[in-house]
Amino acid sequence: MAMTVTPSQIKLRDLFDGYVNSEEDGVVGYHGRLDIRPKYQREFIYADKEQVAVIETIKQGFPLNTMYWAIARDEKGEKILDADGNETYELMDGQQRTISACEFLNNHIVVNFQKFFNIQKSTPDIAEKILDYELQVYICDGTVSEKLAWFKTINIAGKPLTEQELLNAQYVGEWLTKAKEYFSKTGCNAAELMVIRGKKASDYLNGSPIRQDYLSTVLQWIADYQGLPARSEDGDAYMANHQGDETATEIKNYYVAVLEWVGSKFKTYRKEMKGLPWGYWYNKFQRNELANNIIMKNADEIEAEIQKLIGDDEVETVKGIYEYIMDGEEKHLSLRTFDDKIKRKIYEKQNHKCPYCDKSIGGHTYPQGVTEYDYKEMEGDHIVPWSQGGKTEENNCQMICKWHNGHKSDN
Ligand SMILES: [Zn+2]
Repeated sequence: MAMTVTPSQIKLRDLFDGYVNSEEDGVVGYHGRLDIRPKYQREFIYADKEQVAVIETIKQGFPLNTMYWAIARDEKGEKILDADGNETYELMDGQQRTISACEFLNNHIVVNFQKFFNIQKSTPDIAEKILDYELQVYICDGTVSEKLAWFKTINIAGKPLTEQELLNAQYVGEWLTKAKEYFSKTGCNAAELMVIRGKKASDYLNGSPIRQDYLSTVLQWIADYQGLPARSEDGDAYMANHQGDETATEIKNYYVAVLEWVGSKFKTYRKEMKGLPWGYWYNKFQRNELANNIIMKNADEIEAEIQKLIGDDEVETVKGIYEYIMDGEEKHLSLRTFDDKIKRKIYEKQNHKCPYCDKSIGGHTYPQGVTEYDYKEMEGDHIVPWSQGGKTEENNCQMICKWHNGHKSDN
C-alpha cells in the first residue's frame, strides 16, 4: 500500500461532537470516530499557558498548525469501521491542541474569566464562530511502518516524540499497558522503589517516567541481560518477544533485582550515582565478568574503597570511581596529569630524549630510529605509577615518546 495524504477541513463543532475524555477508555471525538488518544500517544503534557494559547488562536480565527489523522486499520490491513460503516481515525499528531480545544468547549478551561458556556450565553454569535472554526487536518493512510516513519518526520517540528514513544507505537498490547503502568507514570512504582533508606530508584535513574525514559532504560538493560540484539531502526527485540504477554512481571522483577543489587553493594548514596549504567553492570556481575574487582567485596569494604579514592588527590572524578569499582580500569579515574611547566623542565633535562628509545639511558633499541624528539612528540609519564603510590610531582615525572607511552607494557 502506498502512503496517501488527503488535506481536509474539519469544523470544531464536528470534532467536539461525541467528545469523551475518560480515564479508563481514553479520549475520542468527531462523532465517536476519532481516537484522540490511542494507547501509543504520549501523555498530555501541555502546560495551562499553552492550552490558553490554543484557545486564543481559535477565538481569533487564526490558523493552528496542521493536524494529522490516520485511517484506522486492523492487523490484516482492513479499515476499522464504526457501527454505521464509516471509516474511523487515529489522531497521529495534534493531541494537545485537540484536547485543549475540546476541553474548552466542555467548559473545563477558563480563558479571560470565561468558560465556553459564558460565551454562549452572552455572545452567542462569537460562540457559533468558534464552533465553525476550521481545523486543517491531513488524513493519511498507509502501513504501520509507513505511518511511523512519517510520524517521526512531522514530529520534528513540535515536541518531538522520544525513541521509546515511537517504539511503544509499534508494540501496542497488554504487556505495554502493564509495563507503562509500572514504569511510565508520574510517581510510578518504578520511580518510588526504595533502594536504601531515604533513597528511591528515581535517585539512581536519569530522565522522567512520563517521557518513557525509565522504560527505555530497563528495556535496554534486560535485552543485554538476555543476550538479545540491541534495539535499532528495526525495533526492539524484547518488546517484540513480549508484546502478546498478559503481564509485564518479568521486566518488573528484573528491574527490582537490579536495584536491590545496587542497594546491597552501595550503602551510601552520592549524587554522582544518578544515571549510571546499573543494569549493564548487574548483568556483567551476574555473568561473573567482574570477578577480581572491588565490586566482589561486601558493602562495608566497597564504601571504604570509595572513601579512600575520593580522598586521593590524584583521582579527579567521583562518578568514574563507580566504574573503576566495577571493572578495575584506572582510565575511569581521570588521574592527574603533569602540567606543561613540569613537562618542559623534564624535557630539557632529558635533552629531548626518550629514556626507552635512548640506548645510553635505557639500553633499548630505537623503534622509530629517532633519539631526539620535538616536545609535542613526547608525553609526561609517572615513573612510579598511581597504583603503586606514585604522585603527580616533578620528581616522579619522565618524558617518553608517544610510541612508548602507547606501549607501556612493552617498556
Ligand atoms: Zn621511546
